[in-house]
Amino acid sequence: MAQFASPSKLPQLPTSIFTTMSQMAREYGALNLSQGFPDFSPDPKLLECAHDAMRKNVHQYAPLGGIFPLRERIAEKIHRCYGATYHPQKEITVTVGATQALFTAISAFVWPGDEVIVLKPAYDCYEPGIIANGGIPVPIQMKGKTYQVDWGEVAQNISPKTRMVIINSPHNPSGAVFSKEDMLQLEKLLQGTDILVLSDEVYEHLVFDGTLHESVSKFPDLAARSLVCASFGKTFHVTGWKMGYCAAPDYLMQEFQKIHEFAVFCVNHPLQHALAAYLKNPEPYMGLSEFFETKRDYFLDGISGSRFQFTPTQGTYFQLLDYSDISEEPDVQMAERLTKEFGIASIPISVFNKDHLDHRQLRFCFAKKEETLANAIEVLQKI
Ligand code: PMP
Ligand code: GLN
Repeated sequence: MAQFASPSKLPQLPTSIFTTMSQMAREYGALNLSQGFPDFSPDPKLLECAHDAMRKNVHQYAPLGGIFPLRERIAEKIHRCYGATYHPQKEITVTVGATQALFTAISAFVWPGDEVIVLKPAYDCYEPGIIANGGIPVPIQMKGKTYQVDWGEVAQNISPKTRMVIINSPHNPSGAVFSKEDMLQLEKLLQGTDILVLSDEVYEHLVFDGTLHESVSKFPDLAARSLVCASFGKTFHVTGWKMGYCAAPDYLMQEFQKIHEFAVFCVNHPLQHALAAYLKNPEPYMGLSEFFETKRDYFLDGISGSRFQFTPTQGTYFQLLDYSDISEEPDVQMAERLTKEFGIASIPISVFNKDHLDHRQLRFCFAKKEETLANAIEVLQKI
């Protein structure tokens, strides 16, 4: 068949590390603590809400921005958690997971030649979105093995071409959580500019040891220039539902929705009803940190005394383990070897770092049944 010249917009794109490691785990029958998804069932009450919704006559297109009751529940949730007010109709859009929210936000605001500051290690969907829209990612490496942002360095990298800064707290893959001081520094350094903030807050309800999630929506000067992206997949253990949302001030949401309209128009209608009903009770998301903190502690207690070093993760459902006392192998090689020889799959961090900086750290997902974690502990203790 004839082929026509159609240069790739993303010529350097490797297969996602999540796909690679999950595939390898399947191939070698390994415990899969790589890709971030729970191996336990969601709350039966949520499934009941989904069953109920399926029985309603809500099988045709939903309104573009999402059904009103769900947007109302989302606005209530944001207000309850962060004290911020978003207008359900004008300032909230239901999306196909956070991934679509992030891509849509980038498409709506990044012009060819614009620079976008990305803090590394960075979740893998930001840079391809920027590049596909003609923008230029400006990567800034977070410092040390606990990944602290040097805001002075961020300030130095701001130029007249900077359109957007992308932040992600709680942070995947490191588990680091921005402090109030971090947010105030960001707020200060953006003062007097037109730079937007794209805030990926998919792990907003997973923060540990009494730490508070500092949403951009808590900081009025930041909120005024920010688009917040969130994921019901992460919050309610249903990553396969691909349901999320974006919240932003009216003037930004108008532009966001212009792209949203032609990317998807609207999102799965019955599941919006299910989520609207389930969200009436705040307990499931308000209790999430405690639920996952117990899992984190079980996992860390289990591997204490092993040859891995770690600092307990502050947020997300990922724990970094440092294997530098065990091997000098590069992390990608180590992750492959642990999968093939020991039967446990993880994610190497260097793939997300600037210039593939390798601190000999692997990311393990502890959103797993106790039985899975117990098996993982047994394996890790032997390495
Ligand atoms: N951002 C981060 C940091 C993530 O880890 C993920 C993976 N869930 C996403 C965005 C995408 O979220 P969703 O699955 O809702 O598209
Ligand atoms: N967010 C998930 C993780 O970090 C991966 C989702 C995906 O496979 N794209 O593991």
